[in-house]
Amino acid sequence: MANKQHPNKEIQAALEYAVTKGWSVKVGGSHAWGKIYCPYNDSECRCGIFCINSISSTPRNPTNHAKQIRKVVDKCIRLEEKQPTTSNEG
Ligand SMILES: [Zn+2]
Repeated sequence: MANKQHPNKEIQAALEYAVTKGWSVKVGGSHAWGKIYCPYNDSECRCGIFCINSISSTPRNPTNHAKQIRKVVDKCIRLEEKQPTTSNEG
């Protein structure tokens, strides 16, 4: 198993977060550092962006990029959680 880490720790943390949710990280590509793939790759779960998210190697704003990665992952796992409609905030 390759243990390639992203040079930016914020993004690396976001990648690890994605992995804990079942996403696959694939390193490589022409411009990007790599890509992450949604585990629920079907028509019902597209995460808004086809279940694939590009990871920049040197994003201009790493904090934002890391946030965006987490956002995409969160959008997806909502489908998996399938919680009953209880809006119990707090
Ligand atoms: Zn998805």
